Amino acid sequence: MGLRDALLLLVRWRLAGYSYRLTAAYQYFVENRSPSELAKEYRVTRNALVGYLARLALANGDYISQRYAGIGRLLRAVYPVLCEVEPVFTAVDGVYICTLCGKRVRSSPLAHLEREHRREVEKVGRYVVKLSRNPQLWNRRPEARIQSSRPVSP
Ligand SMILES: [Zn+2]
Repeated sequence: MGLRDALLLLVRWRLAGYSYRLTAAYQYFVENRSPSELAKEYRVTRNALVGYLARLALANGDYISQRYAGIGRLLRAVYPVLCEVEPVFTAVDGVYICTLCGKRVRSSPLAHLEREHRREVEKVGRYVVKLSRNPQLWNRRPEARIQSSRPVSP
């Protein structure tokens, strides 16, 4: 648990093409939007969305103890960095194509990443962790509202 684990989870979401989870987390922890509203916006169930948010806060280690203060601060700092990370999958004709190995993935891009490209994920993770140490990111002023990103669906 800690900043590194939270970052790695965010990186996995981004690489797998679940960018909406990242955006929803930002909107929830930084902009205080309601989970019901966000679930509707991203067309997922409220339970699923709350589950992702809880997993992220827990990975950062502040689910109970710090009332989300840590994860909000982290997201504010690293969201722009994570948006620079290129997702690994493109959705074509109802399937995900993995740009790393060319395989067609029908169900879970996240599971494919974990199984086949652990090294690549770790490499990107280390890069993002390194970038996240830049103090300028942590001292930025809060920016204007961010754009919502649509969920990637095959
Ligand atoms: Zn692949």
